[in-house]
Amino acid sequence: MGERGKVRKVRRVRIGISACLLGERVRWNGDHKREPFLVETVGKFVEWVPVCPEMEIGLGTPRPPVQLERAAAKDGGGTRLVEIESRRDLTKKMDAFAARRSKELAALDLCGFILKKDSPSCGLERVKVWSGSKSTRSGRGRFAEALLAALPDLPVEDEGRLRDPGVCEDFFERVFARRRLAAADRARFMAALRKRAKPSK
Ligand code: SF4
Repeated sequence: MGERGKVRKVRRVRIGISACLLGERVRWNGDHKREPFLVETVGKFVEWVPVCPEMEIGLGTPRPPVQLERAAAKDGGGTRLVEIESRRDLTKKMDAFAARRSKELAALDLCGFILKKDSPSCGLERVKVWSGSKSTRSGRGRFAEALLAALPDLPVEDEGRLRDPGVCEDFFERVFARRRLAAADRARFMAALRKRAKPSK
């Protein structure tokens, strides 16, 4: 076969993602949080690596909801991941899983990660932290925390921030910069990104 007949196989850029954003029914209430733009536009160009930390620690679906709570000062004052009704503390279990899974993800040559906003496990920023009946938007999901610690240079965003066209373009520029893609592939992707319909709030 001559040079012209050769098919050059280029592996797609790999991006980790909170599984519920792809439409997987893994949420506590048995539902999903499918983001059409990610599935239908971005999905044509990338290989997703879906992760649902709460499913992967064996909580199943549907499951009792969890939340972040402020630990007492004598316990370090950080956050705890707690099942709301039963008061079961899942912090150690989630942290052990998150550290192990982040190492596995680091070996997969990921170029970015898209997290589900507001989640006590996946949320990137401003996640509610409860102290009794009051909450402040001051936390980060326990899985997100471990992911950022294990992969400090990885481009990471949440689906809420990606609805801003400027943030979105900057994120994918950083993602694609990690892989030397053919200029044409990259240009096609960026064109598709700019053409997307304005998402509803
Ligand atoms: S936010 Fe994270 S833990 Fe919650 S359902 Fe989505 S992937 Fe699973």
